[in-house]
Amino acid sequence: MPEIHAILSASASHRWLECTPSARLEADLPDKTSEYAEEGTKAHALAEKRLNKYLAGKNLKTKPKDVDGEMWEATGQYVDICIEKINEAKSASPDAEVHVEERLDFSPWVPEGFGTGDMVLVSDAYIEVIDLKYGKGVKVSAENNSQMMLYALGLYNSYGLLYGAEKVRMTIVQPRIDNLSTAEISVKDLLAWGESIKPVAQKAFKGEGERCAGEHCKFCKGKATCRKLAEWELEKVQEDLEPDDLTDIDVVDILLRADSIKKWLTALEEYALDKAINDGIEWPGMKVVEGRSNRKISDPDAARSILAQEGYSEDDFLKPRELKTITDLEKLMGKKQFAQVMKDIIVKPQDKPTLVANSDKREPMKLETAGADDLDDSLLND
Ligand code: SF4
Repeated sequence: MPEIHAILSASASHRWLECTPSARLEADLPDKTSEYAEEGTKAHALAEKRLNKYLAGKNLKTKPKDVDGEMWEATGQYVDICIEKINEAKSASPDAEVHVEERLDFSPWVPEGFGTGDMVLVSDAYIEVIDLKYGKGVKVSAENNSQMMLYALGLYNSYGLLYGAEKVRMTIVQPRIDNLSTAEISVKDLLAWGESIKPVAQKAFKGEGERCAGEHCKFCKGKATCRKLAEWELEKVQEDLEPDDLTDIDVVDILLRADSIKKWLTALEEYALDKAINDGIEWPGMKVVEGRSNRKISDPDAARSILAQEGYSEDDFLKPRELKTITDLEKLMGKKQFAQVMKDIIVKPQDKPTLVANSDKREPMKLETAGADDLDDSLLND
């Protein structure tokens, strides 16, 4: 059965709360799956199975054959955290309830809004929603997280009045990057937030309002052709630039937007290529050509025989067997086990300097020549 999605999903709420027409726009566009999305679905199914086994007093001891070491370890970490949470809730309130994969209906605040809580805890001390995030690209915080607050509203909607808890906890577990983030608010503040977003949600449900571009556009399905986003991406490159040479501040302004602009251009290229190939669209001034490919040997066994017949030894034409990459080995064994057994032989050589935004978590490099002295200070006060 195809999965049913809410028009106003909790996971896209950071987007439709900022850009109200985006939800209806996205609903009309096809879903694209990715290797990462499929991996996430598989990890959630495994985590659910392991948690249910635990709740039934059993244990899923053996790693299924189709699961790699990293997924086994990550879901194990998640289940361990859930068990700690269950024990904590039961000691605060012995009749605390645990539900896995609980449907959370937040439609009193958001039209037709619902989602799924990976694990929820309900007691008269507090209610808590726990969300597993298998991705490791972006560290996600539970603080002021609209997805978690909508889930919390859904949980309150089902159990809040029954149990009378006054506190709400929201927890995100991102085991592959050791991120455990918990936020706590009062039921009163949660309900006040719910009331504050009601008119915005109504607007979004009707597809009304002006488009508004920003960081929230990153995963919008309509990003390739959205004029508002194109204007937003390009405004720094077009506006207020010096007529001849860029100033230091211009350079910084443009470079800080480079990552976002590159991703937007990639989305635009993929969209245009897809239309040309699948819908026969001819873009004026452009054509579809075969990509550049490298030559390859179609029959490696035949190549070996020929090279041997030509008098070359295997040492001449075969590569030595190589170890897989660290990422592949971590996937194979799981990060923890890999770190434990390999810790003495893993080194991190210094890489070449890279210019990044101050928000990057890496420490700045100590450079011999201080580049900051060369910056035109007069412009910093503009
Ligand atoms: S890409 Fe366009 S429609 Fe999508 S969120 Fe951004 S501004 Fe809104």
